[in-house]
Amino acid sequence: MAHMTKDDIITLPNAHLRQRSKKVSFVTPEIEKLIEDMQNATIDWENSREHEVGVALAAIQIDKPLRVVVVRNNFQDKADHTFKVFINPVITKYEGEIQSDYEGCLSVRSIYGMVPRHTKVRVKAMGLDGREFRVTAEDFLARIFQHEIDHTNGILYIDHIKHDENAFFKLADKGELEAIDYETVIKNNTDIWEE
Ligand SMILES: [Zn+2]
Repeated sequence: MAHMTKDDIITLPNAHLRQRSKKVSFVTPEIEKLIEDMQNATIDWENSREHEVGVALAAIQIDKPLRVVVVRNNFQDKADHTFKVFINPVITKYEGEIQSDYEGCLSVRSIYGMVPRHTKVRVKAMGLDGREFRVTAEDFLARIFQHEIDHTNGILYIDHIKHDENAFFKLADKGELEAIDYETVIKNNTDIWEE
């Protein structure tokens, strides 16, 4: 079968993105294939983008409602296509302070947002070997975990800033972010908000 591509990534208004994913009991060959598909789709998406990096993906983003997340091992080096796998990830503790920073999502086209997140989280997950492991993440990585684990619960980053008139941005031609007009483009946009 052909490799998964960026076209296999579902985007709003696909309502599946708002559904809760199911727990994975065992790491089967099907789960291993799912992980490979997620990685291929992310890299293919990144290869189509000049200014962006595909840092992570949740399984629901390729329309598989399972609690699986993959995160790039290296956000700086686009040539490093390796990922770390988190099965049934949960945040066990929120720490640090709350800071706002830019976030984008492969499933929310053409929009970026300023999203408040905790600067430090503790995460528990199952690895490919079927064993539980824990990590502590700070700053950008902490943000990624909060974003991706939200996906497993059917929550998108825009849901956190729904009523913030100054939180929405788009990528301009040269790669810089510019503000989007909230009233006309965001507020009543039926493509991005649930009914
Ligand atoms: Zn996302």
